[in-house]
Amino acid sequence: AKQRGKNTYQFFAKEMNAQAFEHLLLENSLRHALERGEFELHYQPQVATETGEIVGVEALIRWRHPELGLVPPARFIPLAEQNGLIVPIGAWVLQEACRQGREWLDAGYGLRHIAVNLSARQFADDNLLGYISEALSQSGLPPHMLELELTESTVMQQPQDAVRLLLRLQEMGVALSIDDFGTGYSSLVSLKQFPLDNLKIDRGFISGIPHEGDDMVITEAIVAIARKMALKVVAEGVETVEQFDFLRAAGCDLVQGYLLGRPMPASELMMRLSADKVL
Ligand code: C2E
Ligand code: CA
Ligand code: CA
Ligand code: CA
Repeated sequence: AKQRGKNTYQFFAKEMNAQAFEHLLLENSLRHALERGEFELHYQPQVATETGEIVGVEALIRWRHPELGLVPPARFIPLAEQNGLIVPIGAWVLQEACRQGREWLDAGYGLRHIAVNLSARQFADDNLLGYISEALSQSGLPPHMLELELTESTVMQQPQDAVRLLLRLQEMGVALSIDDFGTGYSSLVSLKQFPLDNLKIDRGFISGIPHEGDDMVITEAIVAIARKMALKVVAEGVETVEQFDFLRAAGCDLVQGYLLGRPMPASELMMRLSADKVL
């Protein structure tokens, strides 16, 4: 037993070293990724259930690492949150998304909005309002076309400050979305407390449709509450036609998910939009 204990320990130590090593490698190269231009944004369509049209997109960051290839955000956003690099990276995301949004506006694609994710650390940053208004004025994107996605835990960290900040953002004209709705500890409180425009139902509920009765009841209830509160509702993680039909029948405004399109480079999205324009 003693021998096995020792082996187990060695096994974990080795595993931890590998993890710690990857962590270090990522962290070091993350420091230079911005200046080296290794980030790009992919865009996932948001489709109106009524018309089937692409009416908006969510911008999602990608890191093209020279040795590791495409690193998904789940592997470096938490790291960037810890060491604060998310602040400059997030400022770049806003700038690039606004620039791209303006380009699509000028090209006449008729997109109504472009959504950008904000992390808790960015939301707590004193310069947030400054770099959002800079991204808007530099690009010339109309503020109402920019949507900011925040999770419940982000806004619940300092609820009083959050209300003030959200009100300032609304005064600037940008739209506010609550992301991953239903996964926080205070979903209903956050609806009551914060000035919001949109609500995104978490993928966890959508994936239960059509087999999990509870998920379907909860999804319908969220849509009903949102509509009564005059919030636009978006369902994320829509992968099947059954889910799409269910959400349309429930009165969900927009859907986003692999069924409608994966996150894709700007050039690919442009081809989708042109094809839709002809139809
Ligand atoms: P999120 O904001 O909840 O974004 C939705 C995630 O679900 C994206 O993963 C998207 O690719 C994925 N997804 C979309 N449709 C489907 C579907 O039908 N099925 C499944 N299984 N997944 C789907 P992604 O791009 O890997 O991003 C993961 C998370 O990283 C995001 O979750 C967000 O929290 C964070 N993130 C991404 N880009 C940014 C950014 O620019 N800034 C910040 N702060 N966070 C970001
Ligand atoms: Ca999001
Ligand atoms: Ca989400
Ligand atoms: Ca999520």
